[in-house]
Formats: sequence, structure tokens, C-alpha cells
Amino acid sequence: MLALSGGAPVRTRPFPSWPVWDHTDEEALLEVLRSGMWGLGGSKVPEFENRFAAYHGAKYGVAACNGTVTLQVALTALGVGPGDEVIVPGYTFVATGAAVLHVGAIPVIVDIDPDTYNIDPEAVRSAITPRTKCIIPVHVGGNPADMDAIMALAEEHGIAVLEDAAQAHGARIGGRGVGSIGHIGSFSFQATKNLNAGEGGILITDDEELAALCRAYRNCGRFGGAREPVLGWDFRLTEFQAGLLLSQMNRLEEQTRLRDENGRYLAEQLRTVPGIRPLKRLDSVERHAYHLFIFRFSAEEWGVSLDLFIEALAAEGIPCSRGYVPLYRDPLFVTSGQSCPAAWPGLPNSLEQRAYRRMHLPNAERASEEAVWIPHYVLLGSRDDMDDVVEAVRKLYNHREALAKARGSGKAKRYAGLEG
Ligand SMILES: *Cc1c(COP(=O)(O)O)cnc(C)c1O
Repeated sequence: MLALSGGAPVRTRPFPSWPVWDHTDEEALLEVLRSGMWGLGGSKVPEFENRFAAYHGAKYGVAACNGTVTLQVALTALGVGPGDEVIVPGYTFVATGAAVLHVGAIPVIVDIDPDTYNIDPEAVRSAITPRTKCIIPVHVGGNPADMDAIMALAEEHGIAVLEDAAQAHGARIGGRGVGSIGHIGSFSFQATKNLNAGEGGILITDDEELAALCRAYRNCGRFGGAREPVLGWDFRLTEFQAGLLLSQMNRLEEQTRLRDENGRYLAEQLRTVPGIRPLKRLDSVERHAYHLFIFRFSAEEWGVSLDLFIEALAAEGIPCSRGYVPLYRDPLFVTSGQSCPAAWPGLPNSLEQRAYRRMHLPNAERASEEAVWIPHYVLLGSRDDMDDVVEAVRKLYNHREALAKARGSGKAKRYAGLEG
């Protein structure tokens, strides 16, 4: 019997929990505490910046207090400002769009590839105008976007590329680490992310001047006396966070490898269940970071609603949730006239003209109605753990007629970790 209707769940043991830590992390934090250098002037932030940038194959790293302001700093350093257009995907966390609004620019929201949920290069091409200053591909769920196609377009039109790699630590495509392929890349260390210090973020780049600008914008606009200051912010990371990130990073390679291996296996297995379609990875992807394991669920083929499926899968003991709504349906855009910063008087009108309220991107809409997300820590388990996920999905499929008649609350949860 279905666990949703009072039967025994497939899975009663918990999956690995997140975050993972031990005495080495305790020692890293205590080392900072005892040093008395808790902020500016300590050695942990620069050490972490160098190590994280090098790990992804970039020359410079600029750490900051989260992965939203890193986007804002990068856009500012790239010279993006009022009136400029920035192309963003229709399936992402709201911060990708909010950062564009914060610098006074206009988010031009384009559709995604239905098989990867990443920004569709053809949709980007159609959206380019003389005002386009930047493209922000997002590596959704840790699955690298089609960077070859995006870099080719950007080069052709002289546009900057800012990779939002907030979910893709350690992912690799075409022989390169994500974040180091575009002109600049941004990561987040927020509590749910694959590398975590509660909060935090970093920018990586090979461009020395861009790195210097980002460093200044993060640090109250100061260049350390070397040049005239700019109008910046205090978006600095603390030494405690950098110390913890350094010790957490000791596990990143192994954890990333494990997620990728389990993710591939899970995709292979789930693909054999009718109406279950894991997202595609491009052939050039060497490593998927699997911040999320995402698959498409066909309500038509099962005769079961997505909400009921997710509730029933959760009842079987598998952590899962719905995913994003299309970006333009976020309240930020639906009510854009009111919620945009008053600092940019021209903005509400131009946003109004964009008519986010009437926007309809078929693939983003569909993703919002068919996607099931399983969080990354499930993939830190064993092969047996993966088999339990598959068994739970198979069980639901075999009982789909009973499931169609079962009663749920009618509303499955959206991913709390990213919406909080
Ligand atoms: C988490 C996330 C961000 C923002 O990072 P924070 O550190 O939470 O501010 C930006 N973009 C994407 C795609 C994210 O997943």
C-alpha cells in the first residue's frame, strides 16, 4: 500500500544529512577565533580566494558575503547600468533577475532548453539588441549550460558573459571548470549549496582589471589607496566563513565526484520508468555538480498530478519538492511597478513595457509544471540509497491507479532551501 495512504514507506532510514562536518571544521573555526583576526587583514579570505579560483581554473577570486551581491558587483564592474539590457533565463532563482534590477538594468528573460532547463542559446540570439550588455547563463541544478554556444554569440556581438554558478561548484564542461569560461563567474556558499559556510559567495575571473574592480566594489569602493575610490559597498566575507570554507573544501572534490557518479546512475535507472525523464547533460559535460537531481514527471502518462506524485514520493521517504516557477511569475516581476528601487526613476516604465505579466515562455512554463527536484545530499549516499529512490518511484508507478484516487493535501511544497 502507498505510504501516502498509510502503507509502509520504501525508505525509513534517513539519507545523508547536510552539512557534513567534523573536528577539522571545529579546529578551523577555533583557529580563526584564537587568532583575533576575525575580519579585514586576516589570511583566510585571500587563501580561500586563491584556492577556490585555482580549483575552477581561474586566476583571481573575490569573495563576498553572498552569491546575490556577487552578481550585483560583477554587473557593476562590467559597466552594466541603467538602460542596459541583461539576458537571463526564465528558470532560475530570483536573485539572478534581482541583481540586474539592483544595478538599474533591464532583465530580458528568455526561454530555456526543454531537455536541460538551461538557457537556450537560440533564444539568447533572438533577444540580442544594441542595448544588450551582458548574458547570465545559470548552470541550473549544477548541470553546465551550453557555454560554447553562448561564448560564440557573446564574442560575435561584443557582449559580456557572467556565469551564475551558484549551484555548480566543481562542475566541468569542455575541459574547463564552470565560472572560468565566461568573463566572470559567480558562486554562492549559502547553507543549502554544495559548498557552504551558512552564507557567502565568490567571483572568479582571469581578467586582472575586472578582479580589481570587483575587489574595490566589495570593499567600500577602495583600491587600497592605489587609485581613486569608486562608489562601492561593504560586501566582505568574514575570516570565520573563509576558514570554514577552506576546511569544507577538503571534501568538495570527493563529494562532487560521488554526486556525479550517483546522479548518472540514478538517471540511468529512472529513465526506465515510463513517464519519468531525467534532464539531459550535454556530451561536453565532464562533471555535473548535481546541486539538484531534476527529472520530468509526465502527469498525462501517469494520470496523476505532479503535486500528488511529489507528496506520495515524500511519504515513501524520498526528499523531494517542486522547483521554480518561471522567473517572470515571481512577485518581483508581477508587481514590478511597485517593487523596483525608487533610485531608478526610469525603470518602472521600461519594466512595464516589458510586460512580464503577459509573458509566456513555453519551456519555462512546462518546467514549472513537470519538474521534480531531489536535493544534492541524497546523492551523497550509497548505491543502495539510489536503488531505494528508484524503488519508491517504481512502487508509485505500479500503484498509479490507487495513487490517482488517493487524497493528498493537494499542494506539494516548492523547494524551501532556496525560497527562504
Ligand atoms: C543561491 C543562488 C543565488 C544566490 O546566492 P545567495 O548566496 O543565496 O545570495 C543566485 N543564483 C542562483 C542560481 C542560486 O541558486
